[in-house]
Order: sequence, then C-alpha cells, then structure tokens
Amino acid sequence: MGWKLENTYTRLPDNFYTKTKPTQVTAPQLIIYNEELAESLGLDGTTLQTDTGIAVLAGNELPEGSIPIAQAYAGNQFGNFTMLGDGRAVLIGEQITPSGERFDIQLKGAGRTSYSRGGDGRAALGPMLREYIISEAMLALEIPTTRSLAVVTTGEEIFRETKLPGAVLTRVASSHLRVGTFQFAHIFSEEEDLRALADYTIQRHFSYLAQHENPYQELLKEVIRRQAYLIAKWQLVGFIHGVMNTDNMTISGETIDYGPCAFMNTFDPETVFSSIDTGARYKYGNQPPIAHWNLTRFAESLLPLLDKEEEKAIKLAENALDTFPKIYTTYWLDGMRAKLGLFNEESGDQKLITDLLQAMIKYKADYTDTFIALTTKKLDGAVLFHSEEFLEWRKQWSERLKRQEVDEGHIYAKMKENNPALIPRNHLVETALDAAVENNDFTVMKDLLDALAHPFAYTEKQKEYAEVPVPKTFYQTFCGT
Ligand code: AMP
Ligand code: MG
Repeated sequence: MGWKLENTYTRLPDNFYTKTKPTQVTAPQLIIYNEELAESLGLDGTTLQTDTGIAVLAGNELPEGSIPIAQAYAGNQFGNFTMLGDGRAVLIGEQITPSGERFDIQLKGAGRTSYSRGGDGRAALGPMLREYIISEAMLALEIPTTRSLAVVTTGEEIFRETKLPGAVLTRVASSHLRVGTFQFAHIFSEEEDLRALADYTIQRHFSYLAQHENPYQELLKEVIRRQAYLIAKWQLVGFIHGVMNTDNMTISGETIDYGPCAFMNTFDPETVFSSIDTGARYKYGNQPPIAHWNLTRFAESLLPLLDKEEEKAIKLAENALDTFPKIYTTYWLDGMRAKLGLFNEESGDQKLITDLLQAMIKYKADYTDTFIALTTKKLDGAVLFHSEEFLEWRKQWSERLKRQEVDEGHIYAKMKENNPALIPRNHLVETALDAAVENNDFTVMKDLLDALAHPFAYTEKQKEYAEVPVPKTFYQTFCGT
C-alpha cells in the first residue's frame, strides 16, 4: 500500500500521549478518496481502495510500522483554560513521502481515548465530508491547511440530536502540534519536558533555527509570523474559522479543525456563523486580535525557555508579540494590493482599501463578488456599484492604477490570480452534503470539489456556482461533532 510510517512523537515524554488503538467498526465503506494526495504521500491508490486499504482508513487494521496514539493537549476554549487531548482522533503514525517529507496520518472519529471525557469518540458523516471539502478548497485557495485523504462510513449510527451515520476522516497534517500542546507542557509537565517539546518542534518544523543563539525566541517569532500570514490569508478570502481556541491553532501555521467554519457572503466584520459562539468572540473582525491573544498564550508557555531570568523572558516575549499587528497588516495589505491589481506601494493604499471596504459594508455588498466584478469589469448589478461612494472610489483607484505604469493586461492577470471566482459558499456545501448524507448521492459533492480545485480559473462551469444567496435566512453552522 506504500505505508512508510515513523513514530517520532512517541519519543517525547510519556505523558504527552497515550497509546490508543482505534476502535473497530462494523462495516466500513469508502465514500471519498483523495487520489492526488495519496500519490504525493507515496501511497498506492489501487490497494488503498481495496478492503484491506479501507480497513486501515476505518481504523480496523493498522498499517505496518504504526504505533497508534492519542495526543495530550490543553487549551483555552472561548477563553477558559482546560485540559483536552485527542478525544476522538488517533494518530497512526508519520508517513515519510517519496520526497522525504513527514506528515501525520490521523484518523478522526476513531473511537474513545483516555481524553474523551463524556464524548463517544465518534464523528458524523456530514461534518467529516464538510472538513474534506473545505480543507481541500482552502488548499486550492493557497491557504496553509491540514488535508483530507479519505472519508469512510463505519456502518454504525451515532447519536447526536438525531441518529446520524458514523464516519472516519483521515486527516493529513505537517504535524498536530498546537498552541495547546505547549500550554499542556507548560502547565502539566516539568520544564525539561517543555524543552523536549520545543526541541522536537524546532527539529520537525524549523530546523533552520536550531543553531541560533536563542532558538526558543526564534521559534516564538517564527510561529507569530506564520500565524500572521495565515490569518491575513483567511481575512483576504473571507474565511471564518469559528472556533479559534488555542487547541485549534497549529504551530506549523496550517488551518486546522474545520468545525463550524464558513465563508462570508455579504461583507461585514461582525459576521459570526457558529451557533456556539454566542459572545461573537470569533467573529470575522476579531480573528486577527484573537490570533494575537492565542499567540500570547503560546509565548507564556515558552517563558521558562526564553531566559533563566523571568523578567528578561517576559521582555523577550513582549517584544516578539508586539510585532504581530505590523506583520499581520503587512501581509494583509500586500494581499489587498494584489486583489486590486497594485504592483507597487503607496502611502495612501490602506485608505484606498478601507474606503472600498467601508462602502461594501454600507451597501451590503458580497465580499467575493465585489472583487470578481472589479476583476471582470462587470460593474453592474450590485447596489454598491451605483453608489456615489463607489464612483468616487473607482476614480481614485483608476488614478492609482495609472500611476504605477503597468499595462492593463498585467493588472487584470494579477487580479485574476488573487480574486477567486469560486469559494465554498455555505449553500453550495450544504447542498452537496444533503445529497450525500440524505440520498447517498456523492456526485454533487464530487462536482463541487472539481470546481473548487481551481478557484482562480474563471471557467464557464464555475459560473453555475456563482449565484449568491439572497441574505434572507440567517445561516448558522453547528459544531457538528
Ligand atoms: P473541537 O471543538 O473539535 O476542537 O474539540 C474540542 C475537544 O473535544 C477535543 O479535545 C476533542 O478531541 C474533543 N471532542 C470533540 N468531539 C468529541 C467526541 N465526539 N468524543 C470525544 N471527544 C470529543
Ligand atoms: Mg480541536
């Protein structure tokens, strides 16, 4: 099958994980399978789709070399610190790819673990397909993310508000190290264990920092930079994660844990989708400051390693954290300039951008469609485009474009590369999931996945998905566990 597993995580201190076998399921069935990802992992697609292969994806059999574990971590959930850990996921090992890269292979929904608390350790088909669709769409949108190799149904029902088909998602990640893993090591472990975790992390993700005078300070700076980049990417496409708890923030800078996430339609920084986010803590406009808050928790966890003297350690942490807003804004501005076809920088750019965003808020413009319209020069339809504010803005933008002395062809090519023609809008995802879960019809989802794989292509086929829902119904996403 091509499995080439290592288990370096099990060399960390014992309390960082619990050896846990996936729970057997009765009748696994392969629902969807990611051929391209399998190939890049060095897995043989044909055998992976046979009964023996599916048994592995369902957790009924372990591939050679696997030492299955559940990882320990803690986290701030909506602000409150608590002990967590993989309550329904089992890491079966780290696959070494033909090109020598290392990826965690994790079965999500694989049964109870010692960290399950009251949970059943299981996952439902709908939410696992949702994670599959959105994570693969994020990848195509050039946003760092964990990936999805396959979804199998278990042949068993699980009980939520209603009975639902049970499923297991095979998640692929450059690692599952989280801010919460460091919080766990800091609070529940000894300093030498925290150091072991930091050294492991540096070796696994940031080996170029190992020789540095203070590698832990560099680790902090690098995680801050990667998260600033990631969150800027989210904001630029209008992605709302929904549960930005510290246990759902990776050290690698990949998006992880697609629960009640969704893409914004009408532009409004107040947008919140998740039914459990009653205080709007994780609304669109809060994502950058929340990332900063989470990174502060990460820095606190690293304090003992930053310097032997606490005061000095705090100073180092503060200095690093203070750079977050600027790094974030720089990435975001660069991204916005690209969306508007700007090749160089001018001091008035931020104002030009916020003027457009303000007008979008005022006239309730669709975020993605506004940029598509600017890209394709079809400025009719939306109320925004007939407003005084927009007409004035457009004049400013035209003058700005002229000043950079780049020909029009290049400007619009750049805009096309940076403004997706298609995003996984909620109603598209829901329609695909309904067909799959209610009617066993997986063609809707597969068609959608094909279209989402090339968001910058501007094809005729994508126009079929272009309709924006009238914002009449209040859309809510559920944690979907
Ligand atoms: P999440 O909100 O998905 O990030 O999960 C938060 C915590 O709850 C993690 O420790 C999960 O492993 C755990 N959890 C979520 N769903 C279940 C479940 N059905 N059974 C056991 N643990 C779960
Ligand atoms: Mg989580």
